[in-house]
Amino acid sequence: MEDCIFCKIIKDEIPSEKVYEDDEILAFKDIKPSAPIHILVIPKKHISTLMEVNDENMYLMEKIMKAIQKIAKKQGVDKTGFRLIANCGPDSGQEVMHIHFHLLAGKKMGPKIIA
Ligand code: AMP
Ligand code: ZN
Repeated sequence: MEDCIFCKIIKDEIPSEKVYEDDEILAFKDIKPSAPIHILVIPKKHISTLMEVNDENMYLMEKIMKAIQKIAKKQGVDKTGFRLIANCGPDSGQEVMHIHFHLLAGKKMGPKIIA
């Protein structure tokens, strides 16, 4: 099966503006930012949605959360704050079927979920 768009980004087959990378996690700027800072954080292993997280790959979620703390510090928003969004499935509007966390920051956000 053909790689998804984020797997292509991981393989550098599609360019991206990377802001964090380690052996199992990648973070890059969203191509269509919804906030001054809009970063997508993904595992390098292809997992399609949150519903595919299981005992075997759960450790990657821990790694993602640790990466998010590092990214927030590097972006200078660890104190001012940020919003984390993970769309899952059709009703959420998930477009890319490779699990990802949107880190949104750099402006005061209202009570609505969308930044
Ligand atoms: P979602 O709707 O949660 O699946 O979010 C997918 C996100 O991926 C959207 O915010 C898109 O703007 C973003 N996106 C799609 N293609 C690319 C790309 N090539 N580089 C960076 N971000 C992308
Ligand atoms: Zn993928």
